Parts: sequence; C-alpha cells; structure tokens
Amino acid sequence: ASRLARGLSKSRDKMAKSLAGVFGGGQIDEDLYEELETVLITSDMGIEATEMLMKEVRNRVSLKGLKDGNELRQALKDAVYDLLKPLEQPLTLPENGQPFVIMMAGINGAGKTTSIGKLAKYFQSQGKSVILAAGDTFRAAAREQLQEWGERNGVTVISQVKGDSAAVCFDAVEAAKARKIDVVLADTAGRLPTQLHLMEEIAKVKRVLQKAMPDAPHEILLVLDANIGQNALNQVGAFHKALGITGLIVTKLDGTAKGGVLAALASQYPIPVRYVGVGEGIDDLRPFKARDFVDALLD
Ligand code: GDP
Repeated sequence: ASRLARGLSKSRDKMAKSLAGVFGGGQIDEDLYEELETVLITSDMGIEATEMLMKEVRNRVSLKGLKDGNELRQALKDAVYDLLKPLEQPLTLPENGQPFVIMMAGINGAGKTTSIGKLAKYFQSQGKSVILAAGDTFRAAAREQLQEWGERNGVTVISQVKGDSAAVCFDAVEAAKARKIDVVLADTAGRLPTQLHLMEEIAKVKRVLQKAMPDAPHEILLVLDANIGQNALNQVGAFHKALGITGLIVTKLDGTAKGGVLAALASQYPIPVRYVGVGEGIDDLRPFKARDFVDALLD
C-alpha cells in the first residue's frame, strides 16, 4: 500500500465499516440512498458536499441503470473523484530567473514549520535553491526549528531575534534577489499576543512582500491540520478573506479519520490543494492527486 493509502487507513476503515452495509445490501432504493447519505455526512464531508455527491450518485445510477447496491461503490468513487479533481493543480515553479516567493500561513500546530522543511527539501531535490524566512517571530521554537533545519541542509535562514515578521520576510526576498535564489519560503505567525489581530498582522506581511517584489507573494499557502475536520472551512474562510489564499497544504492525513474534509473543502472553496502531509518525516509531503486520494479512501 502507498504511504497515502496507509495514512488514510483510519478514514477508510471508518467509511468502509459503515459503507459495507450500504454496498452489501441488495436493491438500490430510497432506504439505501438514505443510509449512504448518513455515512457521508458522518465522514466529515459536511452537508453541502454530501448533497452534491448524492445528486451525482443518483444521476449515475439512473444513467447507467444500476440496480445492485454493490454497483453503488463505483458510482460513489466516480462522484467523489469528480468533486476532488478540480483541486488537483500542482504548483509549478517558473523558469524566469526571479525568486518565487511562497508565503505560508496557518494557525499554530497546523504543521507550517514542518511543511516548510519538507518543501525546502522537495524543491532542492528538483535542483532549486531555497531560502527560508523565519517569520513566525512570536513562537521562538518555530525560529529555532527552522534554523536547525536550515543548518542541517545547508539552506540559509533569515532570522531576527527581536524582528517583526514582515521585516524578516522582506529581508529574505531582498537576499533572494541579490543571491539569485529560486524559492523563498516565508513562515508567518500562527498566533500572537492576544491584543493583536492575527489576520491584520499576516496581511501586513503580504503587503511588505509586495514592496520587496511587486508580484510577490507568488503563492500563499494555507496549512491546515486535517484533524480539525469541519473547522477547516472556517479557517479557510478567515484566511482567504484576509490574504487571498492561492493553495492549501492539508497535513496529518496519516492517522486521521477525517480525510472526508477534502470533499467539504472542494464543495465550498475552489482553492487548489497543492500538497498533502502524510507523516512527520521529511519526505512525507506529496503533491495532491485526486485519484490516489479516492482510491485510498474508498477502495
Ligand atoms: P506549526 O506550529 O504550524 O509550525 O506546526 P509544526 O510544523 O511545528 O507541527 C506541529 C506538529 O505536527 C509537529 O509535531 C509535526 O511533526 C506534526 N506534523 C506536521 N505535519 C504532519 C503530518 O503530515 N503528519 C503527522 N503525523 N504529523 C505532522
């Protein structure tokens, strides 16, 4: 089994157990549809995605003249695939000799710093040079974590002991321009002392990045922990309003039973899922593939 398939085993087991009744039961009828609907709603897909999927499944059943509950599985897989496929838009770096600036956002604990380390390694393995901006100036451990990671991997980390997030990110872009570095990965705060507003603070980072380079940030990635389930929708809403998110990284898909949340996201936000995190290791970040995901979740 692939890392993703193993990672999603909890989500799959949970769904498989409840779907066994649906797919195993004889004729396709209203009772069966109702059972299926209940399974989808309780699998973190949420109401909207569930309604979209039920409509699609019914269409497929009548179009293909399906009669048997067993055939529902394929109809469901196809419907989930069609829902998730638009989210599969891999990030490609331009070959224009300019630094590509990626701003990372997300609340503390989502996996932002870890994902930056993984991404840096991933880009390096593609022959790209990388510089990191330790912009999570509120969480001292985040700065240290990045610095250690940078030292181990020979990647420069721009950091200031008492600096503010925007200034650190600005310096990193300036350094990248001067040193002709391909990719800037800018970390930002995931929490602030309570009197400050997180969204205003990270919106400022974005504005300052634009000052350093007019078309930067080229990508704004929101890092989401899959374990928060339906709360992911609120987080995407809040960050998208403040920043204009261009892509998502969904972490911790290993060991969560809430993989269905991607369907919920797909039904409400047409924001590409650039990568998924499937473990704590440095190589456990993958470009999102709808087919692999559906197979891992529903096979
Ligand atoms: P940050 O506060 O957003 O920077 O979060 P961190 O990068 O420090 O990550 C918080 C915790 O989540 C750490 O223990 C990471 O090892 C863990 N983590 C991050 N991504 C993944 C993932 O894809 N899978 C698993 N299992 N753990 C992850």
